[in-house]
Amino acid sequence: MQFPRTFNSMKEMQETNRTTVLRVLFAHDSPMTRGEIVRKTGLSAPTITRIVKELLKEKIVIEVGKVELMQGRNRELLQIDYDHIDVLGFEVNESFVHGVVCDLKGAVKMSFSEPVQDKRPQAIAESIKVILDQIRQNEAKTANIIGIGLSISGIVAPTEQKVIHSGTMGWENIHVNDLFPPLGDMMIIVENDANAALLGEVWVANIQDDEDVVYIVISEGAIGASLLVDGQLVRGSTMVAGEISHFPVEPNGKSCMCGNSGCFETYVSLERLEKEFAELSTGNMKLIEAYKAGDELAQQFVIQAAHKMATVIRSIIYLVNPGRIIIGGLWIEAGEEFLNLVLQQVKKHFSLGERHIPQFAYSKLHPHAGVLGAVGLVIDEFLKYQ
Ligand SMILES: [Zn+2]
Repeated sequence: MQFPRTFNSMKEMQETNRTTVLRVLFAHDSPMTRGEIVRKTGLSAPTITRIVKELLKEKIVIEVGKVELMQGRNRELLQIDYDHIDVLGFEVNESFVHGVVCDLKGAVKMSFSEPVQDKRPQAIAESIKVILDQIRQNEAKTANIIGIGLSISGIVAPTEQKVIHSGTMGWENIHVNDLFPPLGDMMIIVENDANAALLGEVWVANIQDDEDVVYIVISEGAIGASLLVDGQLVRGSTMVAGEISHFPVEPNGKSCMCGNSGCFETYVSLERLEKEFAELSTGNMKLIEAYKAGDELAQQFVIQAAHKMATVIRSIIYLVNPGRIIIGGLWIEAGEEFLNLVLQQVKKHFSLGERHIPQFAYSKLHPHAGVLGAVGLVIDEFLKYQ
């Protein structure tokens, strides 16, 4: 399929000086003159003149006005042409395939969703193709597409462009080429959903690179945590760091489908809790709804979930000592009261003192953190200093 225009090759984007110029322009809040770019990058004036000429010709950079200098001479103000460069983001989970077109600042220009009826890779590839076709039909609204980011729950090897294992989707060793139609040398970056969501939060909330952050995402069935330590995602030696679904939280507790008992997910997976709640409840409200309405049984379920979440969070604090913990996923619907319940419980049993308790909040980007994080990864790659 043909997109409106793509760069001939990502190699084209990887020239050191060019990426330096792009990064400086991207990081600067306002348009810059060539002279300012020279000072900021430390590159020579002729080099900047040449690169800016190239970037203007390729419509990556545009002139947005002039500034008058002392001698009465004008200098053009330059900035990245944010409206002319787009990124596609996809999120795949057990319920839907979500696709967005974002500009280079991450603002969503278009959004599409396809429900998932069949989780097999061929069926998901079909939904992705439907969304790509819809994007293509809106060609007038899309610009240069520089790449695609894909967020998915499971164990992901980004460098191999592979989903190694996804319990939620029932996938083993699925390559991005199994999911996307041939797109030439379009950059496609795949990332685990919790990692992508964490990067999305860091990017949008402007969290400092050196802050240690843990992101916990609880979707219908799966639970994942993502760890950002010293500005780097912690993946683990075999890529399973943060797979906390089966973290033991109760000796001889509820039996888990993994064969063990007392696993974290048996106490917080809403898919499971909804079933258990429906069996015992006399009403017909769903768990979170009933909890908010003050239903006693629902309160018991939710308090137990909060306690188990606090147990896992305390362990994470002892191990990682993060400055910030972000909770994403379906429990957000339970509101601030639930978050406070978890936090109180963490504080009550944490033995090293309150000053070690991290900042604690729900995801600001819910439910789009994953897809925006995937978009952010592509933008980061585009601007990467090579
Ligand atoms: Zn288990």
